[in-house]
Order: sequence, then C-alpha cells, then structure tokens
Amino acid sequence: MACICSERAERYNFAAGPAMLPTEVRLQLADWLTQAPACGVPLLEQPFTGAGFRQLMDETEGLLRTLLAIPPDYEVLFAQGGASAQFGLLPLNLLAAGQSAAYLVTGHWSRKAFIEACRHAPARLAASGEATGYTAMPPSRDWQVPADAGYCHVTSNETGSGLQMQAFPELAVPLVADMTSDLLTRPIPVERFGMIYASTQKNLGVPGLCLLIVRRDLLHAPRAGLPSAFSYQVLAEQHSRFNTPPTLALYCTNRMLHWIAGRGGVTAMAQRCRERSRQLYDCIDASGLYRCAIRHEDRSTVNVCFELTDDSLLAPFLQQAERSGLHNLQGHSALGGVRASLYNAMPVEGVARLVSFMRAFEKRNA
Ligand SMILES: *Cc1c(COP(=O)(O)O)cnc(C)c1O
Repeated sequence: MACICSERAERYNFAAGPAMLPTEVRLQLADWLTQAPACGVPLLEQPFTGAGFRQLMDETEGLLRTLLAIPPDYEVLFAQGGASAQFGLLPLNLLAAGQSAAYLVTGHWSRKAFIEACRHAPARLAASGEATGYTAMPPSRDWQVPADAGYCHVTSNETGSGLQMQAFPELAVPLVADMTSDLLTRPIPVERFGMIYASTQKNLGVPGLCLLIVRRDLLHAPRAGLPSAFSYQVLAEQHSRFNTPPTLALYCTNRMLHWIAGRGGVTAMAQRCRERSRQLYDCIDASGLYRCAIRHEDRSTVNVCFELTDDSLLAPFLQQAERSGLHNLQGHSALGGVRASLYNAMPVEGVARLVSFMRAFEKRNA
C-alpha cells in the first residue's frame, strides 16, 4: 500500500482498536521476541504450564488486582474469543436454565450484546437510549430490572458513539459490564459488579485476550451446551490454563499493566483522559464546523466522536489528517463521522496536534 504520510512530524494513531501501544511497550515486545535468554529457551516457546509462564500469569493477575483494587472474592480469568464471544458466553455461564437477564441498550456494542444474549436466554430490555437517539445514558432510576433477573448488563463506554457511563448504581441483581474500551482508564467500584469483562486491544495490549473479573459466588458447573473451555468455573479451577492461553497477548498486557502502574495507576490515567478529551471537546464546542451530539455529562473521555456540519468536507478532512500524520480518524463503520480514540497510550501532544489541525482545517474551509 502506498504511504501518503508526512515524513516530518510525529505520527499519532487514533484507531479504536487494535489501538496504539506506548513505544516503550512495543520495544519491550520486540526484545521479548528476539532476545535469546541467557539460559534455556525463550519464554514464548516454554510450556504454558511451566514455572516461567505461570509466574508471568500470576504477576499479570496481581498487577490487575492492585491497579483496580479487586476484592479477594473475585476471580480474574484470562479468556479468548474477545468481548464478542462473551456476549453469548455470559448468559450461558451466569444464568440458570430459563432465568432471564436485563440489558441496557445505549448504542452499537450494548445492542450487539443484547441481540446475542437473546439467542441463549430470555433477555429483556432494562432501558434504552432510543428516545434521545442514543446521545444520552438512561438514568439508573429509570432502569427496569426484574428482581429475579440473573444480572443486568451495561456497556460502560459505547466505543462507536462516544457515550460513557459516569456512575454505576448499586442494584439488587449483579451488575455486569462490558468495559472493553475503558477498563483501566479510571478507578471503578469493582464491588458493585457481578462481572466485568474487557478485550485487551484497546487500552491494554493486543487482540487475543479477554479479561474477566467475576464474583466467585456467580460461578456454576458448566451446563449442557456450554463447552468446558468456555466455562468460567472451569477456567477459574484451572487458573486460566484449561488449554493453551494466548501467551503473546498475555505478555503484552503484562507490560501495559506495568506501564500504567509506573505512571501513577488508574487515578493518573483518568486525569490524562480528562485532559486529552477536554482539549478536543473544547475545540469542537468552540467551532462552527464540528459538532458533537452526545450530552455533555455523558461524553466519553476515551472515544471522542463528532460530525462535520458540512458533510462534503468529511472526506477531505480525513484525507488531510492522514497526510498530516493523524491516522485512523474515520468514525465507526456503522455510524460515520469522525472518531478520535484517546486510549491510555495516546500522548497529550497527539491531541494538541489534532486540535491545531482541526482549527487550521476549519479556517481553510470557512
Ligand atoms: C471493541 C469492542 C468490543 C468487541 O471486541 P472484540 O474483542 O472484537 O470482540 C466489544 N465491546 C466494546 C465496548 C468494544 O469497544
């Protein structure tokens, strides 16, 4: 593919996922792959049941527990198949046969989770963002969660539209959250959740790994129709080594967790998220060309989505951004527009560059 990038300036990748990694983590990954160890074989080629790899997994779990203050009655599991596989595996794992679950539908990803759950269980809508065109989070006082529901599912951050949940209610049934696009970007009250899950390719590494944080009392022996490899209880009993785990993805997440810990943990990540997104939203709100439809209080600090009031300028905007070293700003394929994903690895200078590009673009097209 021909490269049309600028050669002068630093490049920034605003992709929604797989997303950019910190340079430091990318270099550590390269080292890990290419450097021969002083003795023995590289960790990548060692048995996953051996002491070396077990230690890597234990350390990764420990880092995650410390960073998120995960209480001891929760299991941390390393799964495969991405968050999308969990959409179907969740009801099969957490519900008794015939038991229902409640779903909040607030955009693209929560709708996918709901539709997939309906294939496996009597899932019901707890609330929907339809009345506002999915530009606002339905307030928790309006959620309709039957007392006998097995859980209530939410998507903490709608990656496609840039709609983020700012607070998590205490419910009478276990709260389950897809946090694929904002886990480890802010502190969260883990004890309010029955389960949290997240694919790692957004804030936490490369594709191939999905983190599950599950309250232990929700684990059951796998029911008929649920393969053992996808049973949370089996995974917990086998310390996520029922079968070969995604070793490379695990290593990468291990390095990302070290990187986050070394920069002040989730409180510092949240501060950086606020600063980056504030700069961008300020630019959008001050402009006549850019418009963000999401209600202010529900705006995402990690996926900033906006439109151009003149649609014919979208293609040149994206093209000129690419040429200026600002990559992958196109909106979600189902939604269009512009999306800047500002995950943990995005330096604040990347946003400053984007903002000055946007101001100059608007001036040129006034
Ligand atoms: C990206 C994303 C997914 C899909 O993740 P996969 O690993 O591709 O299955 C699910 N939910 C949310 C919120 C996402 O951002």
